[in-house]
Amino acid sequence: MTGTTGSVAAARAPRTRRVESANELIPLPTPLPPEENATERTRLLAELHARIRACERCVAAGYLARNTSIAGYRGHIGNRFLLVGQAPGRLSVERGEPFAGPGGHVLEAWLTRAGFPPGALRSEVYLSALTKCDPGKNPRGTGDRKPTPAELALCRPFLLAELELVRPQAVLLVGGMAIEAFLGPARLHEVIGRSFTRNGVHLLPLPHPSGVSRWLNAPAHQALLGDALALLNEWRRVWVSE
Ligand code: SF4
Repeated sequence: MTGTTGSVAAARAPRTRRVESANELIPLPTPLPPEENATERTRLLAELHARIRACERCVAAGYLARNTSIAGYRGHIGNRFLLVGQAPGRLSVERGEPFAGPGGHVLEAWLTRAGFPPGALRSEVYLSALTKCDPGKNPRGTGDRKPTPAELALCRPFLLAELELVRPQAVLLVGGMAIEAFLGPARLHEVIGRSFTRNGVHLLPLPHPSGVSRWLNAPAHQALLGDALALLNEWRRVWVSE
C-alpha cells in the first residue's frame, strides 16, 4: 500500500489514500452511473446469479458436500455500495438471504450510524462475499470455517463478475479476509478508520460484525470503527442523494 491522497472528484472528496494495484489483489472496474446500460446489466446479473446457484466447482473438487449459495435477493444494478464478506453462514443459507443472522443486524446498525435509512443494508448495498457457499463450521466448532485459498480461487470469478456488472462507487470490506483480498495483508487497526482508492473505487475496511470477533471489545477499536462510519457517512451524503 502506498499513500497519495485520491479522490473521485475534488469537490466530493472523502478522505482517501490511494492503493497501488497488484496482480494478486481483486481488480476493481471503474464505477458506472446506475442508469448506464441498466436493463442489460440487470439481465446479465440475473444470469450470473443463476450460474452461481448451479455451480458445483467446490463439490467436484471435494471441498463442499453441496452448493449452498443464497437463493434470494443480493442487490441490484444501481447500488453505489457493494459489501464483500467472507462467505454466507448457515442462517443465511436457511433463510435465503445474505447476512440473515446477528451479523446482519450489526451491519444494519452501523449503516444507521452512518446516516442511512432503516433497511438500507438490503436497499442501498449489494451484498457479496469472497465465496458464495457456506463453508460450514470450523473443526473446533467455535465459528464459521474460513474458505481455503483453493475455494477462494474457484469462487473468485463470480465476485469479479459481480464487480464488473454492479460497478460500485465504494466497496465495503467486512472482516480480515475481505480486507486482505482487496488491500493485501494488513492488521485491522492499521486499516480500519481509513479509506483507500483504486481505479476510482473507494475501499472501506470494516471489522467483522460477528459476535465471535473480539476485536471491537477494545475502546480504541470502537473509535476506529467510528472513524470508518464517519467516512461512510460522507460518501452517503454525496452518492445517495445524487
Ligand atoms: S463456493 Fe463458489 S465456486 Fe464453490 S461451489 Fe459455491 S458458488 Fe461454486
